[in-house]
Parts: sequence; C-alpha cells; structure tokens
Amino acid sequence: MLRGMMMGVPLLVTSVLRHAARYHADTEIVSRTTEGPIHRYTYADAWARSQRLANALAALGLQPGDRVGTLAWNGYRHLECYYGIGGSGMVCHTINPRLFPEQIAYIVNHAEDRVLFTDLTFIPLLEGIADHLTGVKAIVVMTDAANMPRSSLPNLLCYEDLLAEQPAEFAWPDLDENTACGMCYTSGTTGNPKGVLYSHRSSVLHAMAACLPDVFGLSASDVVLPVVPMFHVNAWGVPYAAPMVGAKLVFPGAKLDGASLHELFEAEGVTNTAGVPTVWLALLNWLHANGKTLTTMRRIAIGGSSCPPVMIQRFKEMGIEVLHAWGMTETSPLGLANTPKSKHRGLDADEALALASKQGRPIFGVQFRVVDESGADVPRDGRSFGRLLVRGPTVCSGYFGLDSSPAHETEPGWFETGDVVTMDGDGYVQIVDRTKDVIKSGGEWISSIDLENIAVGHPAVQEAAAVAIPDEKWGERPMLVVVVKEGASLTREELLAVFEGKVAKWCIPDDVRFVEALPHTATGKLLKSTIREMVTNPATA
Ligand code: ADP
Repeated sequence: MLRGMMMGVPLLVTSVLRHAARYHADTEIVSRTTEGPIHRYTYADAWARSQRLANALAALGLQPGDRVGTLAWNGYRHLECYYGIGGSGMVCHTINPRLFPEQIAYIVNHAEDRVLFTDLTFIPLLEGIADHLTGVKAIVVMTDAANMPRSSLPNLLCYEDLLAEQPAEFAWPDLDENTACGMCYTSGTTGNPKGVLYSHRSSVLHAMAACLPDVFGLSASDVVLPVVPMFHVNAWGVPYAAPMVGAKLVFPGAKLDGASLHELFEAEGVTNTAGVPTVWLALLNWLHANGKTLTTMRRIAIGGSSCPPVMIQRFKEMGIEVLHAWGMTETSPLGLANTPKSKHRGLDADEALALASKQGRPIFGVQFRVVDESGADVPRDGRSFGRLLVRGPTVCSGYFGLDSSPAHETEPGWFETGDVVTMDGDGYVQIVDRTKDVIKSGGEWISSIDLENIAVGHPAVQEAAAVAIPDEKWGERPMLVVVVKEGASLTREELLAVFEGKVAKWCIPDDVRFVEALPHTATGKLLKSTIREMVTNPATA
C-alpha cells in the first residue's frame, strides 16, 4: 500500500477558534447574559479568553482527560468553556439542567466531573444536590465578582476573577485528533442517561458537514442564533460551525420566549437559527398575536422531533426556508437534512411541502441502512418501513463507562437508532416513529407522527400527541391527546373530520382527549410514556 504524502495535521477544535480569531477577528459574538444586559465581543476576544480559561483550569490542578461539567445557557462564557476545556485535552461535559435533579447528580457522578461551571440560574439546583456530588472539587460561577451569589455551596469560585489572574496566551497541548473534547448524556427516557463522548476529530468533521449548503448553509455573511441549547448535543454543532466560517454568533441566554427571540433576531440581523418545534410554535404564536414577522431570517433548522408541515408552511409565507433535520445525541447530532434537489424545481406547492416535511437526506459522513426484522435491507421505495441503522465518524461507538450497549450489538459496526423509517430512491428518509411509540393496530403500523402532523394542521389545535391505547380486537388503537389554542373551541367530531381522506380509515384515531397541557422531555419532545399513562390510567394524570 502506498501512503499518501500529506501532512498529518490533526483535526482539533482549537484550530477552529484560532482560524476565526485570525481571519474574522472583529466579527461579533453577541450574548444576552443571565445577569441581564447584552454583551458584545469578538472572535479575537473569545480566543484570548479561552486561553485565560485554559490557564485557569491548569491552575486548578485539572489534568488532560478530566471531565469538567457545565450547567449553562447559550452565552459567550459557555463558548469559552467549549474551547478552553476541550483545547486543554479535557472534556467539556455539557449537562442538561432541565433533567430531574437526581438525574443531574447521577450524570455528574457517572462522568466523574471534577469541576462544574454554572450560570447563576442553576445555583439553587446545585444547592439541592450538592451533598450527592462527591467528586466535585469546585464550582465556578460564570459571572463577575459583583454578581457572585450568597450560597451554601462549598468551594464556590468566580469565573471572571479566575480569568483575570491568568495570561491571555496558553500553550495548547499537541493532541491526537481522537482525544475526547466534549460529552453529552442522552436524556434517558428509558433507563439511566448514557454518556456520548465526542472527539476533536468528530466535532470538526461534524462542523464541516453542518456548514454545507444543503445543511445549515453557513458563511461569513451569516448571523447565526442557536436557540437549541449548548447543553443539548452541542447546540447541534453551531458553536463549532459558526467560527469555522466566521459567521457572527448571537446567543439568546435564558430567554427563549417569542418576544425575546424576535427582539434579538431583528436587532442583530439574524439569518440562520436552529431549534426544536416547540420553540417555533411559541414564536409563531407570538408573531401572529403581535402582527410581526422576521425581516432578516433566511433559514430555520428544525429538528429533535418531527416538524409539522403547517409550521414549514407558515415560515414559508414569511419568506423563510425551513430546513427539517434529524439527529441524535449519539450522532453529534446531524444525520439528515432536507433541501430539495434540482429535479424538484417543478413540484407544485403540495408536493414541495410533502417533500420538505420528510426528515431529509443523509449528510455525507453518515451511512444509513433501513432493515427489516431479519436484518435485511428493505426496498428504497419511500413506503417500506424498517429499523434505521447508522455508522460514520460522527456516530458514537459505545457509551462512556458502559461495557456493553445493545444498540451497538444488534448489527455489529452499526448503531441502532431506535427509529422506524422509510427511505426513497433519492435518499429522503421519513421517520415513521420511535420503535417504542409506533401504534400497532391489527398487525399494521400506524405512524403517530403522521396523526400528530394532521391534527396540528387544524387551526384550533395548539399541540397534539397520538398514542396507542390497548384494544381487545386490534391489539392497539390510536388516540389523540390535544391542547386547544387559547380562545379557540373544538369538538371531537370537528377534529376527527380533518383526517378524512388524509389517512386510511383504519388509521383515524378512535377518540380524542382534550387536555390543558402536554408533558415534554428535557429536550422538548412529547413525553409519550407519561401521555400513554394519562390516557390509560386517567386517575394518575
Ligand atoms: P433524547 O430523546 O434522549 O433527547 P435525542 O435528543 O438524541 O435523544 O433524540 C433523538 C431522537 O429524536 C431520534 O432518534 C428521533 O426519534 C427523534 N428525532 C430527532 N429529530 C427528529 C425529526 N426531525 N423528526 C422526528 N423525530 C426526530
């Protein structure tokens, strides 16, 4: 074998921010802070402060390989953690503060986090679990001396004081590109959360893929605001992708409501954003109620759960392109992104909307297989269902600290996503359901996502969940649990009528239950297990 004669320069996240600091030195990073005011600085500043942070970590006695946890919103200090911690050869372990406190304690202990960095918001949460955090040596509050809280927490340090003591130059270690730089636990709707350990290499490759025109489509002329939190799968890679191309970054902090987002989008001229459907539902309602629109937005990436066609349609009416995308904590997360091909130019509006509502085509670097029960590939006809398997350099090969993982064992070399999907000849994948959420009626599968998308297409519906209820004759039957929009009224019959002609008769839900609100997971997905419980056992709801 003849080896290529190219330089073995490792792919490191440090090189991403260094690149931004050199060639986009004055490009801004704007943050809404937890303390209140808007903060502005540049990529040059972020680079200098990440080095101060790296020096501070070394001064705290932390070593390469150590895990350092963060409990923080999207903001410039959190960005410094991504680079300062990862670049030091340590692991930036982003923790989802919306998890139950016991789960957070479990995660911190399982990851063996030695130091935690926290926003002011999460001090009470940490006070509640401090006794259980046996391995944590210090907690760094991401604020300045003037805003340091009074707290019972031991070993509380002030972020700005730590940085002020340190020089703005750090001798970054020469790392192998397979060194771990980041970590995120799955939200663990079944069993304990599991840790996914990202490497420098996987993060850089993922960021390159994220910037591609058919993915986020980012460039130096863009202004990007990740609504998706930096504690949810690295904000889908935006904190690495934006500096890679020199896009201006805008961080929303803790304020993710419609009014606050609209204000930042307009004030900063945001062109690209990303987040889960729940956030956009709230924004769309706010825009509608206040007669506003988004004047600079070009593309909104929507994923994490299925994006209803009606949402794509409403943004389209404002001249905004929706990029429906699919991913998982285990896949860094981007795996599928939906843009049309040139051959789709002639599609009429309905066909174009149907295409855009699929989860998208495989992004280069992630291989996809759709297999049946026996492990054989199903036809790529857009109709045949199967289990989705993936592999690639941005897909996890196992979980931190766990010897075995069933998801990696069913088809060795592949990761079992737990999703049931179809794929068509052009590679467009449609998620039918999570394996555990699919409704099996008379031996046939009914997609809960399809039913939910149709239900939220009704103008009076705010949110809808389709779940299986046990049925003597059919095994399971679909039932809808619906939240009606404020001020609107809706009957069971009116809602069920919208299903006529849209799905086969036997797929139409048997019944509708109207509720005040639906429960969500820590990552904003409908909590199907609890909804099933609400329906089958109303006394507990
Ligand atoms: P968790 O549910 O633990 O938070 P992830 O955030 O990694 O884990 O969620 C991954 C799952 O979310 C996927 O396996 C899939 O079921 C679902 N998902 C992600 N994006 C989409 C999408 N665009 N449409 C439908 N389901 C999606």
